[in-house]
Amino acid sequence: MAAAAELTPALILGSIRYGETSRIVRLATRAAGVRSAIAKGANRPRSPFGAALQLFSEGTAHLLPTRTDLHTLTAFDLTDLHAGLAGNLERFHAAAALAELTVRFVPPLPNPELFDDLVASIALIEVAPPDALPVVGLRSLWRLIADLGLAPEVAGCARDGASLPDGVVGFSHRDGGFLCDACARGGVATRLPTSDREALVDLLRAGGDLPILSPRHVAAHRRLLVRWVQTHLGDVALPALETWQRDRGGDAGDTPGDPE
Ligand SMILES: [Zn+2]
Repeated sequence: MAAAAELTPALILGSIRYGETSRIVRLATRAAGVRSAIAKGANRPRSPFGAALQLFSEGTAHLLPTRTDLHTLTAFDLTDLHAGLAGNLERFHAAAALAELTVRFVPPLPNPELFDDLVASIALIEVAPPDALPVVGLRSLWRLIADLGLAPEVAGCARDGASLPDGVVGFSHRDGGFLCDACARGGVATRLPTSDREALVDLLRAGGDLPILSPRHVAAHRRLLVRWVQTHLGDVALPALETWQRDRGGDAGDTPGDPE
């Protein structure tokens, strides 16, 4: 008897042609993390997949496990194409950076919270007012990092757990977050003004109000995030993240993110 396909909510994060008639897709799934699957016949005219297998398509994946890492996608019940992402470069860049980090660093293991945050982020990036979009992008990427278990320590000193001073506070990528005055002594930490410190705490939250950041501060927070990714996820080429960093508001500013 043939094995039954497993059904899971999924988001398509990559799709390439394979052979004459098939496609290989990369999917974030709620039930099994990031997976690769072959969609046989997806490029045939009148394929049952239709136009569903596009970047950022959301729906229910029918996945047939195989003995290899490449599963078989037998069907994809589309619920949302997120077509609004393709029509606006800034939205597309934010979503693409999120997709890149997901495909690169999310393992093939169940992480429903990560998946739910990812889907919510994609939906919000698609509809956010233009002014809010840079901050929505920052929140989306920080949420993914937090769901990977790699959020900076913001409640106490990352090195010794001591309580943090009011006002300007040290931040160390290498130590993993904010530092108390004693640990920040010696100049190894970036100094974060109160407003940037509060903004980072707000950006890391799952919900709640988004901070309001000037273009200069958006640029600084983007640099801080990219540096964090390089320090904690590996200094590898991430072209979509780099493109997102250079978007509007991404080319000026000086704090926070001075060299340690
Ligand atoms: Zn300390």
